[in-house]
Amino acid sequence: MTAEAACTHIKSIDEVRPAKRRECAECVKIGSTWVHLRTCQTCGGTRCCDSSPNRHASKHARASTHPVICSAEPGERWLYCYPHDAMAEY
Ligand SMILES: [Zn+2]
Ligand SMILES: [Zn+2]
Ligand SMILES: [Zn+2]
Repeated sequence: MTAEAACTHIKSIDEVRPAKRRECAECVKIGSTWVHLRTCQTCGGTRCCDSSPNRHASKHARASTHPVICSAEPGERWLYCYPHDAMAEY
């Protein structure tokens, strides 16, 4: 079984929500920086990845139980589900 098949969250996404902004709004607020950006597929918010000092995307996923993010980096086309630890390209 592939990771994609194991995750019902990623399966239920018909259309990937693209990043509206090229910044992490929460890092901007506190004057911090980030490494990569991820976009929540439930609310459309763009936040920073786990390689960034503040890890806002995974904090948001835990706090809100929004499970799936996509990469907001140019040229990257993948989704990731936090609760299932599943990744899928699209
Ligand atoms: Zn899932
Ligand atoms: Zn951030
Ligand atoms: Zn969200």
